[in-house]
Amino acid sequence: MNANEVKPVTQLIRPVDLSSALYVVATPIGNLRDVTLRALDTLAGVDVIYAEDTRQTRRLLDAYGITTSLRTYHDHNGAQMRPQIISLLEEGKSIALVSDAGTPLISDPGFKLVSDVRDEGHKVVPLPGPSALTAALSAGGLPTDTFTFAGFLPVKTGQRLDRLKSFAGQKTTLIFYETGNRLADTVSAIIEVFGAETELVMARELTKMFETIVHSEAGAFLEELNSSDKLKGEIVLMVSLTGD
Ligand code: SAM
Repeated sequence: MNANEVKPVTQLIRPVDLSSALYVVATPIGNLRDVTLRALDTLAGVDVIYAEDTRQTRRLLDAYGITTSLRTYHDHNGAQMRPQIISLLEEGKSIALVSDAGTPLISDPGFKLVSDVRDEGHKVVPLPGPSALTAALSAGGLPTDTFTFAGFLPVKTGQRLDRLKSFAGQKTTLIFYETGNRLADTVSAIIEVFGAETELVMARELTKMFETIVHSEAGAFLEELNSSDKLKGEIVLMVSLTGD
């Protein structure tokens, strides 16, 4: 075999003997090949997978030939599902929690479940992997020694401005999750609170076909946004408040 040839992985998914626990499994944020081998082993090996949207998760499972039974766990049925999940753990079952994309609990459901499972004395096992947050930070080129993840900003203008003002004076890289529809309003609010020269990076559609990473001053970026079609897709917006 020559040095550039990659040795094929003959056995992608390995049978694993999973002890009873809640496995919190990160899944791809676009490119399905970003899944970890351990995530596949675990999704194939658990008794039940709880997913935010079973159709979305089924696409990932189908791509790897995994047939584990899927049930839903989301913000609207969480209160009903938590006791069901805890009684399965009491029976000694192994359970996986996944969200539609990325790492569960990062702007996704699961916080109350993890805290209840812990309070009931059961094990919670993290399976690290993709997240839009870390993908954006790793390629954004802004300081990463101190960063503040602020999830989604409030939709209402006044509340959004207040939220942004609450970060004033901090030396940090601020990170928000955004959508194309709201991007221009958010950048206007950033200019109002931190100034038009604020350095920002927008990371859009990471790991997907139209992946784009733009580094700009906020004022120039807003002009560009206002003079072109509305951006579509999923967005991480990073704002440097460090002055570096
Ligand atoms: N738990 C996920 C994670 O770990 O990244 C985040 C879930 S949150 C409901 C969805 C938001 O994440 C999107 O609105 C977008 O801001 C961001 N996001 C998810 N996938 C992305 C991608 N491929 N590129 C850029 N941002 C993404």
